[in-house]
Amino acid sequence: MSNLLTGRVIYPGDPGWDAARHGFAARFDYDENAPQAVVFAQNRDDVSNAVRWARAKGVNLRARSGRHSYQAYSSLTKNGLIVDLSEMDSVSVDSHRQTAKVGAGIAMLTLSEKLSDSGFVLPMVTGPTVGLGGLVQGGGFGITSRRFGLMCDNVTNFEIVNANGDIMEANAHHNEDLFWALRGGGGGNFGIVTQFEFNVQPVTMVGIFNLNYQWSDFTDVVKKWQEWSFQSDPAVTSLLSLHVDGTVRIEGQFTPELQDLPKLGSIIAPLLEAPSPISMQALVVPALAAARMTFGVDPTAPEWAIRIHSDNQLFKSCSAVALEPIPDEGIAVMKQWLESVPPLSATPSQPSMIQLLGGGGKSHEVPVDATAVYWRNAYLVVQYDGYWTAPQDAQPTIDWVVNMRKAMLPYAHGAYVNYHDDQLGDNWLEQYYGTHVDRLRQIKKKHDPTNFFNFPQSIPPAV
Ligand SMILES: Cc1cc2nc3c(=O)[nH]c(=O)nc-3n(C[C@H](O)[C@H](O)[C@H](O)COP(=O)(O)OP(=O)(O)OC[C@H]3O[C@@H](n4cnc5c(N)ncnc54)[C@H](O)[C@@H]3O)c2cc1C
Repeated sequence: MSNLLTGRVIYPGDPGWDAARHGFAARFDYDENAPQAVVFAQNRDDVSNAVRWARAKGVNLRARSGRHSYQAYSSLTKNGLIVDLSEMDSVSVDSHRQTAKVGAGIAMLTLSEKLSDSGFVLPMVTGPTVGLGGLVQGGGFGITSRRFGLMCDNVTNFEIVNANGDIMEANAHHNEDLFWALRGGGGGNFGIVTQFEFNVQPVTMVGIFNLNYQWSDFTDVVKKWQEWSFQSDPAVTSLLSLHVDGTVRIEGQFTPELQDLPKLGSIIAPLLEAPSPISMQALVVPALAAARMTFGVDPTAPEWAIRIHSDNQLFKSCSAVALEPIPDEGIAVMKQWLESVPPLSATPSQPSMIQLLGGGGKSHEVPVDATAVYWRNAYLVVQYDGYWTAPQDAQPTIDWVVNMRKAMLPYAHGAYVNYHDDQLGDNWLEQYYGTHVDRLRQIKKKHDPTNFFNFPQSIPPAV
């Protein structure tokens, strides 16, 4: 047993200490909740040593990959230890088998770029710096979910350091229970994943589109899009965002077999009928260019400047799932809440909004009990986002977002575990995991009976 922390270890006062302990969500007090050290693991032995060290010393430990937990659960651990995987970001592609071994800490944009070198993709998410480690374990919905399933549906093997510091594998033949739980049970619960093995998809060119509508057409656009997004070609996944600044935008990606790309025009044609958009773009581009645009990179800027996602945002987001189309009354509730956003003293980096991601397709083909993702049958995944800049705008915006979700509960309920939310109330476990709670708690008891891996919304071991 190692009594030492290994890897690149940063202690209070070291150069880089401040940057090392902050997460993406900027509203939290990282000074008040500072860890005693941050280990930037370089390999799985560093992770193993950190677990053994923390156990021996009785120190709380948090695993971290991309730091994007909405509640900063990967970073806030007073006097604890953060084990950061972001420097474990290697990608090794086997083109013949169409598989890739990927370091758990890699960021999504880097992953897309490295896979693209070999002509492959994985299901995409919308943030360039989102980490693979947290994303996959929560499920991973994204802009190709209807085509390739969720991110976790493409995993064939997890390499994981368990609560004793031992290195294990979880796949269809070894530790099958853990393999089930790691696909949707959420990060930080069962161990520290150090490497994923995926089936990757050969994709070279894709179609992308975005259409903007007038606010006065809000109701008709939501009604039309909901039906279209679910019934359209399963190679299309799309997102409708409704912003408090009056933007009504449909964005999507068409990822078919190469010979079917010319169908893009006819597929999106229904979105051009009344109400018709005020502007639109539809392009066929290399898959990597599409990924960069999804990540908020401006393709017209020669340097591909990133537009929207900064790595430090003041926001409160929460989620719900609609299992059927939102009815007219629900659409009216969304509009009413968006039109009554609290006034802000300063303009944030992006407007507050509701985002609706269309479900169906391949993500519905996998049976609900095949993985821990309870909400894969979502007709829509709903995200409510509030942004602000000035400190005095924080609480009114947080209250607004939380109450907007509550007002929408008759139409969209439950919560997506990758959108951590401390305002879900006492039954948050059921809201994240539905009928999978008991099975998850049994697996937790088997693999982490002392609840070593814990955070405010971690899965407790079965009693
Ligand atoms: C801008 C933005 C865009 C997003 N877009 C999408 C999207 O399109 N689709 C979607 O599904 N989600 C999306 N998300 C949500 C995202 O999937 C979750 O926030 C996810 O948990 C982030 O993972 P991370 O590694 O970056 O975060 P972290 O904060 O590092 O980790 C999140 C959780 O996982 C645990 N964890 C992290 N790494 C490991 C590991 N290696 N082993 C074990 N546990 C680990 C942490 O302890 C923590 O509990 C987005 C989030 C943001 C902020």
